[in-house]
Amino acid sequence: MSEPSIFTRIYNGEIPSEIIAQTENVFAIRDINPRAPVHLLVIPKTQEYRDVVELAAGDPDLLTEMIGLANTLAAEHADGDFRLVFNRGANAGQTVFHVHAHVLAGGLEERSL
Ligand code: AMP
Repeated sequence: MSEPSIFTRIYNGEIPSEIIAQTENVFAIRDINPRAPVHLLVIPKTQEYRDVVELAAGDPDLLTEMIGLANTLAAEHADGDFRLVFNRGANAGQTVFHVHAHVLAGGLEERSL
């Protein structure tokens, strides 16, 4: 069993952060270092999958559940439109190896790609 990730520790209440929403298998928090007016993280409760490629191969229904919660939150916290970002791998900027989706919304800067 690997060490609990920072997100597992948040979910377990060991690190303070408000859980702003959850479904059966997924929860959401605010990113501590927001890069958009609305910047949320949608995270599976299991840390079994390191990144979105592992998740898509191992449990596509869980990936679908993440996208559903992202969509709900974008409607609640912004106008319903959102950008969904998964960093996969350190060279792409991933720092926490417990798969998570960045939900960016609410007056986004011009697209960089
Ligand atoms: P990534 O770089 O894609 O792995 O994303 C990890 C994200 O987790 C970063 O955007 C961090 O700002 C965010 N983060 C790290 N620690 C915390 C925390 N304690 N509470 C909320 N967000 C965090």
